[in-house]
Amino acid sequence: MEQLVAHNFVKVAAVTDHDTTEGLSVTRQLASAYPDILIIPGVEISTPQGDLLVLGTEETPPKPWTVEGIIDFARDQDCVSVVAHPYREYGMGDLARNYKVDAIEVLNGESPPSANRLAQELAKSMGLPGVAGSDAHQPSELYTVYTEVQASLDVDEILKALKKGLVAAHSTDRSIHF
Ligand SMILES: [Zn+2]
Repeated sequence: MEQLVAHNFVKVAAVTDHDTTEGLSVTRQLASAYPDILIIPGVEISTPQGDLLVLGTEETPPKPWTVEGIIDFARDQDCVSVVAHPYREYGMGDLARNYKVDAIEVLNGESPPSANRLAQELAKSMGLPGVAGSDAHQPSELYTVYTEVQASLDVDEILKALKKGLVAAHSTDRSIHF
């Protein structure tokens, strides 16, 4: 949280723990002291086909966790579904083409450039917005990449902008891969 507060321009963070939203309340509690910090609730669900992010939810989708079921859940809850790191371990790869997701993670802070390039090509060929995700599992892995969103500091506005593709994925000088 201190890093987020101190960061010169990143003021929004999506919390997407694996298969749980339990970390959300403590994160929000920490963030509540800072009016210019916004936390986007979310979760990363492990499916047999690969990892799928849901942005905007405070709860996990109902089981069984199928890709279709999670996408339906995201749509019904006005959330955004994002294929996580498609060409890395636990990624969906080309299978993503079979699903009506909202966006593709085209820049993953923990993926090699070749995998991110393939993800960018996937998003382009599917006509989907591309977002960046640090995939940070510890503070030192934060801010390697970020998503620029054309929206006000509001979760619903940001989710809408993501769906419309008003986003750009960027890497930073903290990135080891670019
Ligand atoms: Zn993952």
